[in-house]
Amino acid sequence: MCGISGYIGAKDDAAEYVLGMQIELEGRGPHSSGIAVVQPDGGIKQQNRLGPASHLAQRINMAEFRGQAAIGHDRYATKGTLADAQPLWGEIDGQEIAIGVNGDTVSICDLSIAEYRQRQNTVFRARSDTETLLHLVAQTPGPDLVVRLENAFQRVTGAWSLLALIGDGRIVAMRDPWGFRPLWVAENADSVAFASEDSAFPKDMSQRREVAPGEIICVGKDLHVQSWTYRSSADRLFCCSFEDVYFKKPGSFGVYSFRTACGRETADEMVRLNMVPRGLDGVVPVMDSGRDGGIAVATRLGLPVIFGINRTRLHMSARAFLGHSAHERLRLAAQKHAPNREALEGRSILLVEDSIVRGDTLKQLISMVREAGASAVHVAVVSPRIIGPCHYGIATPDRWKLIAATQKLDETRETIGADSLYHLSIAGFQRNYHHLSIAGFREHLTARRDVCDACMTNDYPPFVPPSHTASCR
Ligand code: SF4
Repeated sequence: MCGISGYIGAKDDAAEYVLGMQIELEGRGPHSSGIAVVQPDGGIKQQNRLGPASHLAQRINMAEFRGQAAIGHDRYATKGTLADAQPLWGEIDGQEIAIGVNGDTVSICDLSIAEYRQRQNTVFRARSDTETLLHLVAQTPGPDLVVRLENAFQRVTGAWSLLALIGDGRIVAMRDPWGFRPLWVAENADSVAFASEDSAFPKDMSQRREVAPGEIICVGKDLHVQSWTYRSSADRLFCCSFEDVYFKKPGSFGVYSFRTACGRETADEMVRLNMVPRGLDGVVPVMDSGRDGGIAVATRLGLPVIFGINRTRLHMSARAFLGHSAHERLRLAAQKHAPNREALEGRSILLVEDSIVRGDTLKQLISMVREAGASAVHVAVVSPRIIGPCHYGIATPDRWKLIAATQKLDETRETIGADSLYHLSIAGFQRNYHHLSIAGFREHLTARRDVCDACMTNDYPPFVPPSHTASCR
């Protein structure tokens, strides 16, 4: 997963707005960040760096990044090396372009990415899908780069939200026809902005909406917004439910409603199944993405919320799940969470977590609250178990690294060191899909057919990479 943003306005301060939005989004991709701007005298200037956007902000000379149109990218490296930082710059038939993509490509022209690249007989500098997509655009005929982008993405299968900055000062936004990854557009009197999440927009941009699946938006220096469907929306959408479980920031559209509803549902199931541990003193939400669900569980069970784990001042970019190695994930989890000993001492607690992927960071948290004096540590997870990998832009790991894919529930409880463990059921999770944050598409989402929950159900979209088919079916 990555975070993308773009801004086009009447003044030459677009890069400042983009950098601000990238910092807001850096929890989606802390490994590298970059911005690209069309300079007043033409041509694209860009700077990409390893590390999160807040680090980029400390090192960049903004005086050199004046211009009316800019895009930015926060990258989590699902593929390739950290040197694949985006936006990726290129020149196609004499016209400059920079693109930033959030998502994963499953196939191009029915070929896997590896097969497609081998057939190009060309040099690839990076290993990311994004460079491959830039080559595809270059090889696709059309009178203008926007038409070439449109035509190129007719031949792609997978998940993408994309921003392209063209050297003549236009910004192009595209979302895949299945709606996997989010993308928003906002306007005010003298600017238009794009972002992966609406909470990243400057506060004065009040006219906001989601980019529709299959929609392309093109904005030039005159700020005239042109929008059309470049690829018909698929019969069925696959809006990613895990975005709302974990990735999206608290405060992004719909996140509070969905996480709260899942928390209520989890508590109700626990009561119905007689799974509420006896003698609880309170509920401890794991910050930040477990906060809304944790408060809902506590309210429903009539228990006090105990803020037994404080977030340290380490920035959101230190999301533990995004660490590349077990060692890095544990280090990040230890750095960003601090136990509140006074609140935990001698108490029996219900720890509420948003999800469990590998289980190693939750194991560390449980051990931390025990050491801080908690007398018993029970766990409730306000989403179902993650049993399969994602091929559509979320960096859940291979199946064999997923704790729920390799262990029974009670084995997982033992591994993480909890006194009891409860997960929201699939049916309970699906009952709340109408809360998902796909603004403008709510009519679709009353039924589960327009939501992707493949990593929790194994019910994958009809397209998966060949390696998945070999290992899972
Ligand atoms: Fe989202 Fe999971 Fe579907 Fe991937 S498989 S798009 S993470 S719901």
